[in-house]
Amino acid sequence: MLTLRQLFLNHNAQTTHFPLLLEFERAQGVYLYDKDGKPFTDLISGIGVSNLGHGNQRVIHAIKDQADKYMHLMVYGEYVQTPQVRFAEKLVAILPESLNSVYFTNSGSEAVEGALKLAKRFTGRTQIVAMHNSYHGSTHGALSVMGNEEFKQAYRPLLPGVNFIRFNEADELQYITTETACVIAETIQGEAGISVPDAVYMQALRARCTEVGALLILDEIQAAFGRTGKLFGFEHFGIVPDILLLAKALGGGMPIGAFVASGELMAAFKENPILGHITTFGGHPVSCAAGLAALEVLLDDCLIDGVAEKEALFRAKLTHPAIKAIRGKGLMLAAEFESFELNKKIIDRCIENGIITDWFLNCSNSMRIAPPLIITEAQILHACEVIMEAVEFYSP
Ligand code: PMP
Repeated sequence: MLTLRQLFLNHNAQTTHFPLLLEFERAQGVYLYDKDGKPFTDLISGIGVSNLGHGNQRVIHAIKDQADKYMHLMVYGEYVQTPQVRFAEKLVAILPESLNSVYFTNSGSEAVEGALKLAKRFTGRTQIVAMHNSYHGSTHGALSVMGNEEFKQAYRPLLPGVNFIRFNEADELQYITTETACVIAETIQGEAGISVPDAVYMQALRARCTEVGALLILDEIQAAFGRTGKLFGFEHFGIVPDILLLAKALGGGMPIGAFVASGELMAAFKENPILGHITTFGGHPVSCAAGLAALEVLLDDCLIDGVAEKEALFRAKLTHPAIKAIRGKGLMLAAEFESFELNKKIIDRCIENGIITDWFLNCSNSMRIAPPLIITEAQILHACEVIMEAVEFYSP
């Protein structure tokens, strides 16, 4: 009889070079459990999804409750559905006043697509500025603004009119002009191996967009909901985007994304011809119910409060000549090694010893350190011990 892994390899299409190929039976808190019940500490969090940890009871209850009432009734935006209304109401209540209109999508990539379309409709312009090393998703529009030529050359021609500038390089802001419909940037770059910009740069980026009438789209698909130590990443820099992109942790483990703007901006989708953005499953009622519950847990349980201290603990414990740098903010961290080969060996040994981590799409020499925000001091100390043992093993 074929094992699950063999079946997976045979019938689940493979689209990445090195899938981790791990098998887990269940997950609770910061732990993933294999079929023998062995716990693994999760330093990936499904890539910024499981901010509350796994198996949060309030989220599970909200999912069951909504599934009992109804799941899918109609294409998003046609019916007035309680979970979508309540979730949008809660989101705009915690966002700056200008971000008061939410469009729910299926995924982060779809939020990117919607936002790029909206920027074109609102400004009447077609040029887009994106950042080197960025990752915004895998659909054609999102690929077009991805700052890594290697991963997108096979799919050309992509969207025309996309110009790339270097992230956190103030000199290059001059390439944002009155022809630019929008600038799309991650507030803190994730798959670049966690790149945190300077506040001065982000403020200059904001000012330049305002000056030339280009919309600033900030992608916080990976950085939002406490991951960086603040509810939203842009709060670190004292700026507000014109369009905010959310996904991943937004659904508390269920699939959903969103682009959020002002009502005035969103109104561009209502102009003739009226075909703004349409999605069947976007803003799925069960995902909205889960997302609302997750947001309430995040706020009620004050899960963001301890994030900066937890960052400091990781930074204090992960010091070794082989660790070239610890980059990041909050619990969105990266440990850099001299090569992918060394990083991969250390990661493999960590996994063997019960710590799950991986590397970044655009930065293969760095290890991801992004546990659920609920991780305790003792769990951090244990994770750091295992990582340091692996580092010592390969770099004595
Ligand atoms: N933007 C960022 C910053 C991301 O990290 C990701 C996913 N890793 C996406 C967009 C794409 O989201 P999705 O996979 O839900 O389409």
